[in-house]
Amino acid sequence: MKSIRIEQFGPASVLRAQTVPELSVGPGEIRVGLKAIGVNPVDTYIRSGGYAVKPALPYTPGGDGAGVVLEVGPGVSGFHPGQRVYLTGSLTGTYAEEALCAPNHLHPLPDPVSFEQGAALGVPYATAFYALYFRARALPGETLLVHGASGGVGLAAVQIGRTMGLRVFGTGGSETGREEILRQGAHAAFDHTRAGYEEEIAAQTGGSGLDVILEMLANVNLGRDLQLLAPHGRVAVVGSRGPVEIHPRDAMTRNADIRGVLLAGATEKELASIHAGLYAGLESGTLRPVIGRRFALDDAAAAHDAVLAPGAHGKIILVP
Ligand code: NAP
Repeated sequence: MKSIRIEQFGPASVLRAQTVPELSVGPGEIRVGLKAIGVNPVDTYIRSGGYAVKPALPYTPGGDGAGVVLEVGPGVSGFHPGQRVYLTGSLTGTYAEEALCAPNHLHPLPDPVSFEQGAALGVPYATAFYALYFRARALPGETLLVHGASGGVGLAAVQIGRTMGLRVFGTGGSETGREEILRQGAHAAFDHTRAGYEEEIAAQTGGSGLDVILEMLANVNLGRDLQLLAPHGRVAVVGSRGPVEIHPRDAMTRNADIRGVLLAGATEKELASIHAGLYAGLESGTLRPVIGRRFALDDAAAAHDAVLAPGAHGKIILVP
């Protein structure tokens, strides 16, 4: 079987395709044939060796994907060969033709959803859902800014925000990205590379400010975010790549909150709720993951460079 292996931490070039022994399923395990694999920024942080999570070397990267159950080990119930599933983790890594999973890594993939779309669910959709419902506690009628709306988490947040009855604004750094943000239901899109765009956002709220900001790059934006909030507003920090200076008074004067978001810290009960909500949205068609770019599994290194490059317009996936 073909698999991407990492033998040492480093740049994207450490991602190498190899032929590895076939996987054999043990008690409590499920073997899945992957049809599409989600590439997330966190995969690149782990690969570089500079992240809190450091797998034992060598390893196969990846936690997201979608495919078909091939084999069910002794003691497993609720899954059967041929079943369509999406993955929120695995025992062996998802950048491969097959993966071994525990039952809690697998979720049924509703029929209208393609495998490629299924590979966009595990981290991006679950994070957007967790951030909006559980961390920001957004309510119908509130105004949401998805600050970084053109990527995997951002487009998911735009769609989920619309289903929640929010007024949704999004930012993107490219024309293509902003067109996609509007196509996915945002009421307005702004260019976060343009000087003064924050004033345009403030004007769009009619001066009343934003109730919720989902922030993808807090080290750049958090200080200005606080100034854009309405009284009792919340910034949910999803992404940050460094330190930032803020004026605490901007939060004090608004009774505002900065709330951290870490999907990996969600409880079992929260995760069950998140995936029930995602299933309902996928089945009804209100949630429709957008695929931005596809790469062959052999080109995983190029996919890692692409996921960190500007100009996002949907999810980046690998096709084994
Ligand atoms: P992605 O698909 O690579 O998208 C990145 C997004 O950030 C794009 O929309 C990009 O816009 C935007 N961006 C770039 N410069 C920006 C700026 N100055 N201001 C605002 N946004 C800007 O990544 P993703 O999967 O959506 O993840 C987004 C971030 O959340 C990453 O840092 C990731 O590590 C983090 N994350 C955290 C969790 C958690 O549990 N906390 C879970 C998932 C992801 P353009 O490309 O259009 O410029």
